[in-house]
Amino acid sequence: MKDYDPTKHQFETNAIHAGQPPDPATGAIAFPIYQTSTYVQEGIGGHKGFEYSRTANPTRCALEECLASLEGAKYGLCFASGMAATSNVMTLLKAGDHVVCSDDLYGGTPRVFNRVYADYGIEFTYVDTSFTDRIEAAIKPNTKMVFIETPTNPMLKITEIRAVATLTKRKNLILVVDNTFASPFLQRPLDLGADIVVHSTTKYINGHADSVGGAVLTSNEKYHERMKYCQNAAGGIMGPFDAFLTMRGVKTLALRMERQCDNAMNLAVYLETHPKVEKVIYPGLESFPQHKIAERQMRLFGGMISFVIKGGLDSAKKMLANTPVFGLAESLGGVESLIQHPALMTHASVPKEVRDANGISDGLIRVSAGIEAYEDLKRALDTGFSHV
Ligand SMILES: *Cc1c(COP(=O)(O)O)cnc(C)c1O
Repeated sequence: MKDYDPTKHQFETNAIHAGQPPDPATGAIAFPIYQTSTYVQEGIGGHKGFEYSRTANPTRCALEECLASLEGAKYGLCFASGMAATSNVMTLLKAGDHVVCSDDLYGGTPRVFNRVYADYGIEFTYVDTSFTDRIEAAIKPNTKMVFIETPTNPMLKITEIRAVATLTKRKNLILVVDNTFASPFLQRPLDLGADIVVHSTTKYINGHADSVGGAVLTSNEKYHERMKYCQNAAGGIMGPFDAFLTMRGVKTLALRMERQCDNAMNLAVYLETHPKVEKVIYPGLESFPQHKIAERQMRLFGGMISFVIKGGLDSAKKMLANTPVFGLAESLGGVESLIQHPALMTHASVPKEVRDANGISDGLIRVSAGIEAYEDLKRALDTGFSHV
């Protein structure tokens, strides 16, 4: 792997090789877990680029380089969770700055914005960012950043990244995209004009539901320098073992995503014809209002499906209690299929009026398609429906 240049290779190849040459000491093909806090120096200041593992650790650095290559970024930073990654991006702001955000971001994001960073004098406004003119209307003289998520959770609303990037460039604002739901295999926001990408690697990137982590990717040197400084200063780093797991997980991202998108598409079509289903929300369906935009900016339509079951809460509870194979659980993006009830689970802390306004009704069920055999997944849902 001498002189491996990620810019000369495709996604699937970089997922396996970028940032991780064979170990020069032994030839080990699996990148070692450098489970160490410090590094012995040959003399004072005579180190090999590593002094202390909060600042830099070889396993974390390898993953950072790999993930940067997958998003087409120059720089990557990895954190202890997706929320630590988002918090690190906030270090680009100062008291008095204003951020325009999507109105149905992952629940933890408005929680940290409104309950933590608002106390430090940063202001947040939430709009439906699928309408670029609503973002523009919300911009104030002190606006510094636009923070979007696409597709959103659980309504899978799509924001056209290129259109928003045209606006943020004209207004000199930082555009941040939480790309967790799509993963870089389906959507590359930096190619579409965004400045910074945030990930919860907990989901598709690691993909095996055995690690919590986050990443920030950018090609902007000034932003990267500040965020790297704050990664070391504030210290919410990803540990070496999680970096190893995530590096191992991401090697199969393309294969997993293809299978998950395939399973999701087939399940969506099946659900759309089911007599006990009122409505299916999946960007790959012709009936999805923003299907054309999704088609333009995503390679495939993702592994997440939401649907409304007839009969509301009562039916939803019966179905969830009787569906085999699918894990009844929050989170998403792993190889195992999951099913959950947003109104009672992931979005329970959202006030009912807001849930209703956003379409999160009591009959809404969210599915994260895994990589199991489609026939088994379909049969499992059939079993669930038969109890309704
Ligand atoms: C899970 C998630 C996060 C938060 O990530 P953690 O790793 O749980 O801290 C942020 N954004 C999205 C879209 C998520 O799904």
